[in-house]
Amino acid sequence: MERLYEENSFLTDFDARVLTCAPGKGGYEVTLDRTAFFPEGGGQPWDTGTLGPARVLEVHDRGGQVVHLCDAPLEPGQTVHGAVDWDRRFDLMQQHSGEHIVSGLAHAKWGCDNVGFHLGAELVTIDLSAELDEEQLAWLEGEANRYVWQDRPVSVSVPAPEELEQLTYRSKKALDGPVRIVTFPGADCCACCGTHVRSAGQVGLIKLLTVQKFRSGCRIELVCGSRALAYLSGALEQNRQVSRLLSAKLFQTGAAVERLLAENEGHKARCARLEEDRFAALARQYAGAGDVVLFEEGLSPDALRRLCDAVLRACGGRCACLSGGEGAGWQYAVGAPDRDLRPLAKEMNAALDGRGGGKPDFIQGILQADRARIEAFFRTH
Ligand SMILES: [Zn+2]
Repeated sequence: MERLYEENSFLTDFDARVLTCAPGKGGYEVTLDRTAFFPEGGGQPWDTGTLGPARVLEVHDRGGQVVHLCDAPLEPGQTVHGAVDWDRRFDLMQQHSGEHIVSGLAHAKWGCDNVGFHLGAELVTIDLSAELDEEQLAWLEGEANRYVWQDRPVSVSVPAPEELEQLTYRSKKALDGPVRIVTFPGADCCACCGTHVRSAGQVGLIKLLTVQKFRSGCRIELVCGSRALAYLSGALEQNRQVSRLLSAKLFQTGAAVERLLAENEGHKARCARLEEDRFAALARQYAGAGDVVLFEEGLSPDALRRLCDAVLRACGGRCACLSGGEGAGWQYAVGAPDRDLRPLAKEMNAALDGRGGGKPDFIQGILQADRARIEAFFRTH
């Protein structure tokens, strides 16, 4: 079986003869005498596309054969036209090639190894055996992009065994059979079965997003090529929205958000002072009133508790405070210094579709019943 993608990673259309077709998990497993479909390998996901009238859903390397999982059966012996989904393949080639450049440059600079590579649907991650900090990451990103701009051609070779023995390359391990060496001159030389761009410039852009400690080294998140463009466009659009909303220049949104947060802190403090005044006024209003049921708008659970405390000290009975509304439910806080309120909590939760509880002298929770039912409950309890 001829693996056309090994010779030409830009080949998208080809004709091939169907060798076998058998029902498999989720479709029909088809083998061909030649294929441009890349099966998953070396961290690169499989290609998708079409084979004649059938859609190619997955491609796997199994027992030396490339197995195409198709959504329809194909007749063995017939010739079919294959078409690889090029947008998907080229995106994967950009990510994969970018990974070579970054791993190769990191290896040359710090002597660290790539110990993990994941090419996800959104992000690419590389695990290195050395810990890198933000400064090193910035250097690596600059260096990787300067390398891309040099646009040097990528070469693929299968050296003879004695030549291979003399060669220094990444992913060197005892392998049976021929070893495919992929070279990004000046950046990387690595044993790899994947598909790559023709020259470094086709990677377009390498954006390193984050670096985190991972095991005894680090994990780098990155995006390359069209993904990098989409990612940065998405981030720019978010910043544009913030810029518009805050009437701040695009490169001054950080400072504008800081000002907004400081302002918000001021409002919160003022709001807390007004709440305290309001609670003190209510406490005066209900002084000596005995058992009290109070509905108050827009209180946080903490403010509700403070209101309950304030009125409780003045009323001389049980104080039930509620805040919220229909739909969101009513938060409750009930206090009484001389009674065990826990049985009341149970009864209230059962009668008013609620949950919550607390200490003998103070219970807190939420009720889903409407205000009229809550008021009726407290008239009889
Ligand atoms: Zn590769």
